[in-house]
Amino acid sequence: MIVIDEKRIFDEIQKRKPVSVALNGPDGILPKVQETASRIMERFGIPAYVLADTCFGTCDMNSNGAKVLGAEILFHIGHTINDTTFGENIILIDAFDDISFNKVAMKCATELLGKTVSLVTDSQHLHQIERVKKILEEGGVRVKIGKGKGQLNDGQVFGCEFYPITETKDSVDANVFLGQSAFHASGIALSTGKPTYILDPYFEEIREITEFAQKLQKKAILAVYKAAEAETIGIIVGLKEGQFSKTTALKFRKELEKAGKKVQLFALTEITDDRLGNLKGIDAFIQVACPRISTDNHFHKPVLSTPQANALLKLLKNESIEEFLQIPHWL
Ligand code: SF4
Repeated sequence: MIVIDEKRIFDEIQKRKPVSVALNGPDGILPKVQETASRIMERFGIPAYVLADTCFGTCDMNSNGAKVLGAEILFHIGHTINDTTFGENIILIDAFDDISFNKVAMKCATELLGKTVSLVTDSQHLHQIERVKKILEEGGVRVKIGKGKGQLNDGQVFGCEFYPITETKDSVDANVFLGQSAFHASGIALSTGKPTYILDPYFEEIREITEFAQKLQKKAILAVYKAAEAETIGIIVGLKEGQFSKTTALKFRKELEKAGKKVQLFALTEITDDRLGNLKGIDAFIQVACPRISTDNHFHKPVLSTPQANALLKLLKNESIEEFLQIPHWL
């Protein structure tokens, strides 16, 4: 069950006495965020708005939504990083899953006996990582936890940022991800090229995600080759505040025009196949917002992420594009 650190929210409201507040978090915990918002309204009598747009990370906090509503504090819930605030008005609130990994970790120790693994997880299970490490080590598995960097804590990854497992990848046999997120686990497999297992505490099973990740990789490579044949390429700047990268878009424009491509520039908040379907005369797109939009979604035309676009530039110069996803940060 997801447990939101409501005490911290209530303490902040008590201390700062805002006229109204806003809350948001990833889709999976929205029902819990709603409950917290109701408790704020009951307890303090102030409006507590749930910003219910998609919210994929600390790159996507929708502080503008809170501003438009006149909310004095935005409680951004469920994306733990190694900091507790963002500027004055955004407060990062932990939301941990209290499910136990004990049984599945013991199973894992039997399956991976004698191996060396890198243990890694997302925000919701970070507090369990040391406990699982102990169980695996007692069961005969050697365990490494890579160091955090940027916003990441030790042993933590985002969907596009993988520093802890990049640090350990040359000294382990496999990665072990705590939680149910195929999204995070496939990113780990792609960025390390190592066998990667999911430790699912709900189904108490260990699943290998490597094959699924290889399919994503093939799709990503194919899109690069198709884009190489394009005459006109649309470059999309994402308008979400933490994904805004105009400089990268303009760099790609320059390089592609040098390589003989025609370029048109676009800006979008939500980059979906439907929205791109409205745009005419474009053979392929590059989007410089969230890289996982390109690798994980279906599009009718090639839509490259930043690492894929870098690979495209290499391809156009007849350089090798091997292992272009095996980097610690996909932006
Ligand atoms: S994968 Fe996308 S949503 Fe997640 S942190 Fe990276 S840019 Fe943000």
